[in-house]
Amino acid sequence: MKICIYPGSFDPITYGHIDIIERASKIADKLIVAVLNNFDKSSLFTVEERLEMIRESIKKYDNIEVESFEGLLVDYAKSKGARIIIRGLRAVTDFEYELQMAQTNRELYSDIDTMFLLTNLKYSYLSSSVVKQVASYEGDISKFVTPYVAEKLKGKFNRYNV
Ligand code: ADP
Repeated sequence: MKICIYPGSFDPITYGHIDIIERASKIADKLIVAVLNNFDKSSLFTVEERLEMIRESIKKYDNIEVESFEGLLVDYAKSKGARIIIRGLRAVTDFEYELQMAQTNRELYSDIDTMFLLTNLKYSYLSSSVVKQVASYEGDISKFVTPYVAEKLKGKFNRYNV
């Protein structure tokens, strides 16, 4: 069985992520969307909230699992029997970092390969940080995230404003 892992912060999940997930789920027998529980990185949503928003977005797919992980991605991949890491590439700016990560991961675990899916052109500008910025100024985020995620974002920023 071809098990692929799509790791990321997903803070929060956007239509750009969903597009990659949908396409990767057609390549993989089983796709694991893995949320990095990174204590160094300050995130708007807790890991549980991010998991929940992802699950809500992908519920129509039956070969996708959503989990969180800590520590090295390659160790997590080994524990899941996965040999393919999926990453999305938006622009040249993503490339240098992604190349470095993919090569490091292969040095750490020679059986692992990273597969890059090119962003859908219509989402090439889209990132979780931009969505958060727009949401913080109460801008229209309906083109960036699902209505469910948009509500959660509104809730976050309303709560901060109280
Ligand atoms: P990370 O913090 O690991 O970069 P992100 O949640 O920002 O995690 O992104 C996870 C993956 O999804 C990365 O490979 C990123 O390049 C990809 N990605 C994010 N936004 C888009 C998008 N709009 N189109 C395609 N890929 C994307």
